[in-house]
Amino acid sequence: MRAFASAADLADKEQTLEVLGDGVYALTAEGDPNVGAIEGEDFLVCFEAMATPVAARGWLARLREHTAKPVRYLVLSHYHAVRVLGASAFDAEVIIAHDNTRGLIAERGQQDWESELARMPRLFRDPASIPGLTWPTTTFSDRLTIHLGGTRGELVLAYCGRGHTEGDIVAWLPGQKILFAGDLVEAQAALYTGDAFHADWAGGTLDEVAAFGAESLIGGRGAVAHGRDAVDAAIAQTRDFLATMRAEVGTVHAGGGTLREAFAAAHGALEARYGRWPIFEHCMPFNVSRLWDELSGIERPVIWTAERDREVWSQLQD
Ligand SMILES: [Zn+2]
Repeated sequence: MRAFASAADLADKEQTLEVLGDGVYALTAEGDPNVGAIEGEDFLVCFEAMATPVAARGWLARLREHTAKPVRYLVLSHYHAVRVLGASAFDAEVIIAHDNTRGLIAERGQQDWESELARMPRLFRDPASIPGLTWPTTTFSDRLTIHLGGTRGELVLAYCGRGHTEGDIVAWLPGQKILFAGDLVEAQAALYTGDAFHADWAGGTLDEVAAFGAESLIGGRGAVAHGRDAVDAAIAQTRDFLATMRAEVGTVHAGGGTLREAFAAAHGALEARYGRWPIFEHCMPFNVSRLWDELSGIERPVIWTAERDREVWSQLQD
């Protein structure tokens, strides 16, 4: 049997800090979850919080080589543990997420924490440093604009519809045409769709993401997409990954086949193009399981627990 999820992925990744424009920062790490920051006139907006406060402090130390401004806003793109549980390190005045994200944290945040810790232990640097679940202090349903002050313009936080989860938001800098897309777009990294709404994501949600017309895009994982061609390619890759899964799993489901057959079909169709990208093998059992449920009329993703993770894994990835 394959090693469970990313449990055997223990080699540190190289972190790269890029300055994308005046006061706009992105930290990527060879397929590990990306984070970012945007300078206001006298404050910072940080985007995503990493898995633990100790991991987040490493990122903040890099950021502090460029700016000493305090973090006023911490924006969480969605509820997943590896994005939110480092929040306490930021000492942010305001923690912002989508209304649905607050609900998901209340409903399944604890189970998700345990699930993700077992799936991706390397990302949880010093897990004992996590003080508890991260709760947003401000949530919104459609749009929220942060005025950055001076001549820095504004940062628009927007909900584009259900996608990677039911509460993903993006951060858009209209002046510099830079989009922090969270896990709604991956650039040369596999998609995780275990909590997704595949039909919505592949359709209207990605249409809304594309409509920003970004010239730089920071996805959830993978390199920064520089230029319209690279942005379009990242969005197209995300759409293709979803479309291929929907076609393959949909055919087996409609034909009265089994979940294992659907897994084999989707894995086979995606492997040549995406099989060497980060977390592909880790994600596929959870992806196909959720898509199968979606096709079966189960509206909201079933809660992943550490125990259910192992059951699905042994059913499909052996
Ligand atoms: Zn996620």
